[in-house]
Amino acid sequence: MSLQEELNFNAVAVQPIKSETFSSSIIQVDVLRLDKLHPVVSGNKWFKLKYYLQQAMANKSKAVATFGGAFSNHIIAAAYTCNKLNIKCTGFIRGEEPRQYSQTLLDAAALNMQLKFLSREAYKNKQAVIDENPQMFFIPEGGFGTEGAKGAAEILQLVPNISEYNYIVCAVGTGTMLAGITNASLPHQQCIGISVMKNNWSLDETVISLLLDKTQQNRLNIFHDYHFGGYAKYSSGLIAFMKKVEAEHQLPLDFVYTAKALYAVCDLSGKKYFSEGAKVLFIHSGGLQGNRSLVG
Ligand SMILES: *Cc1c(COP(=O)(O)O)cnc(C)c1O
Repeated sequence: MSLQEELNFNAVAVQPIKSETFSSSIIQVDVLRLDKLHPVVSGNKWFKLKYYLQQAMANKSKAVATFGGAFSNHIIAAAYTCNKLNIKCTGFIRGEEPRQYSQTLLDAAALNMQLKFLSREAYKNKQAVIDENPQMFFIPEGGFGTEGAKGAAEILQLVPNISEYNYIVCAVGTGTMLAGITNASLPHQQCIGISVMKNNWSLDETVISLLLDKTQQNRLNIFHDYHFGGYAKYSSGLIAFMKKVEAEHQLPLDFVYTAKALYAVCDLSGKKYFSEGAKVLFIHSGGLQGNRSLVG
């Protein structure tokens, strides 16, 4: 089956969440289940890769490369899509080669991704790596950038009755998805990003840099205080929240991104952040493979 045939856009449904989960019952929260798009290329990663891969193919690039950590959803999505499209792909991985590979890295290697490990110091200087490999078409880490945002803007096309929503909420890493969503949003909608990193204060500026119409930044609001200690950090409370949401709503979340973002929606709802009667669209951006790093 081709990649296009494997991507199950019909499975990406909008799931309403019963209001008891939220301390205030005056809002309605619907979840866009992007996690159902594909078992490996899940969530937002396909959208962010799409136009970069198109560019690579248009350029007749012999090899693609990208960057990411040992548990990265982006790395596994890049490995899978390139393998399917018969494009050679190299993953430059943050940190020295581990004795025991993570399941994500084992899967990426099984999908023919060539793994190259960079020390944390070398990883910071990505431009040097790019300069040393002129034969490779580089996709920015996390699918960041204009092409990534262009693809992410298409996420909202999967939502029937998109104009009914007052707020659109998503988890934020690089900010590419939030920028794309804001670009595609309607004038009456507020786009809310929950940063999963600690003290990532340049994020607001980064997201604004990807907006096609800079005046749309007045629809944008990024929260920086739901990181639970930092990127990929978690508390027992967060894990308990994930388990409760999964049990009560058949809604699996990942601990790095979507659990923190949905937790923020509950917390903000309790604090009466959302206006009364508001309809909130929550983007389930996928990433469930990352939960394998919780075990063991
Ligand atoms: C990568 C990822 C994000 C972050 O997307 P950005 O465009 O980098 O902000 C959010 N959620 C999940 C599940 C992801 O894998």
